[in-house]
Amino acid sequence: MGLNSTHALPRSAWIEVDLTALRHNFVSIRAHLPVLTELLYVVKDDAYGLGAVAAARVALSSGASRLAVFTLEEALTLRNAGITAPILLFGERLEEELPWVLSLDLEPCLGRLEIARAFNELARSQGRLISVHLKINTGMNRFGFSWRTVTEWGPQLAAFSELDFAGAMTHFAQSDELDKTVARMQIHRFQSCINQLCQNGLTPRCLHQCNSGGVLDLPEAYLDIVRVGLLAHGVYPSLVCGRLPDLRPVMTVKARVVAIQTLVSGDTVGYGMRWRAERPSRIGVLPLGYGDGFPRIRNEGHALIQGTRAPLVGGVTMDALMIDLTDLPSAEAGEEAVLMGRQGAEEITAQDLSLLKQTVTYDLLTGWRRRLPRVYLGS
Ligand SMILES: *Cc1c(COP(=O)(O)O)cnc(C)c1O
Repeated sequence: MGLNSTHALPRSAWIEVDLTALRHNFVSIRAHLPVLTELLYVVKDDAYGLGAVAAARVALSSGASRLAVFTLEEALTLRNAGITAPILLFGERLEEELPWVLSLDLEPCLGRLEIARAFNELARSQGRLISVHLKINTGMNRFGFSWRTVTEWGPQLAAFSELDFAGAMTHFAQSDELDKTVARMQIHRFQSCINQLCQNGLTPRCLHQCNSGGVLDLPEAYLDIVRVGLLAHGVYPSLVCGRLPDLRPVMTVKARVVAIQTLVSGDTVGYGMRWRAERPSRIGVLPLGYGDGFPRIRNEGHALIQGTRAPLVGGVTMDALMIDLTDLPSAEAGEEAVLMGRQGAEEITAQDLSLLKQTVTYDLLTGWRRRLPRVYLGS
């Protein structure tokens, strides 16, 4: 084993990525979509922590035909791995990034005239066209040309002869809540903006607007491509959005009990002595903590061990957390525990943990640090 292959070094806390479950989810989502709607897999932030290359390969061989990332480095990683599928580049670019966009053969989102001009000149100097996706701001107010001023920027964009308008897109500010008023307004604004563009002689080849929430709740908005990240991981954007039958969680977070402490009544656990034993107790130590992305909670939450829920006691530390094993006398050091995922009939979902962390499932998933090795199962 090479000393630089650090992920081959043993560690008693890790993340299992079930590639068979991921594949199953892509097949399910693909089957849910109209045949002519393309499935784009959003692999930004290392596929929300799964590992972008492994996840992208599964996606592209089970129904997805495109990928999207946010940074050049993320795109470079995919290209270096030999992935040739179209890659959409989200966000805005600095001028110094533009040559890389061309050399990596990416399709950038375009939301500013200055960058459109720079892309147009760069493409001309290289004697080629550049494929772009027009980003239209219909209410998210983050990236893109404003739908309100299309009659100003539309004709100017149409005059850039080296730009190939491969697509036009918008992004929902709210697609996973019960109230779809704003999403429906955005759909309407996008469509009227596209109609106006077409009158200016700019006809994007494909249109897209749905993220996971849109796929679940806004079938009328699918258009030519849907951009799916979270849902493919068997995790939902919110508690109230629609559900697809039969999606499977892809990520499981596990650790082994590495130490057991025997306490008498009155002993305390952890920094600040925030948990006190009310009976003789056995405390198991799991070697992962907030330094691995586990929520920094105290005296709440559980680990699954021997198919039952063992309560977390004391505060989660940077490197470790403690669980009460008093009612599991046969649990010994070396026993495998699940912090997120299923064990036997019990399950701790990403949703459950995100509520403990007081955040959304997106943040919970991407919050697992690289310090936890990823172990890939299935194919
Ligand atoms: C992240 C992102 C998506 C994917 O969203 P999910 O809810 O994870 O499916 C789609 N479109 C854009 C523009 C994004 O930034």
